[in-house]
Amino acid sequence: MSKKIAVLVNEDTMQRCSCGGCLKAYMNKVDSFERYADEETELIGFSHSGGDLTKKLESFKKNGVTTIHLSTCTRGKNENYESIAQQCAEAGFDVVGYTHGSAVSKEGKVAIELNAKN
Ligand code: SF4
Repeated sequence: MSKKIAVLVNEDTMQRCSCGGCLKAYMNKVDSFERYADEETELIGFSHSGGDLTKKLESFKKNGVTTIHLSTCTRGKNENYESIAQQCAEAGFDVVGYTHGSAVSKEGKVAIELNAKN
């Protein structure tokens, strides 16, 4: 059975970004997605973390998502990065706190990784 993944990007960044970096990393299984090199994956959801996030998480859950990746720009630009990650974990998802690039930002910020809390 394939692993079902969703990506949440930074709402403000999505006003300008076509999300190619996130999608390319997912399609090529590099950077944060390299961990799935030997697994089949399905990208079930791709959205921003704004709006009604609880509703989005419910939808991910209903559709079998087990892991949520928060975008690299969420780590870099969203002051709620940690709390979004916690909300996702508390809703029952494993969380990987970046998409493309390195697990550690140029500024030294290490990507969050959390296990599902229920
Ligand atoms: S992580 Fe990169 S490609 Fe993905 S939405 Fe943010 S700026 Fe765009």
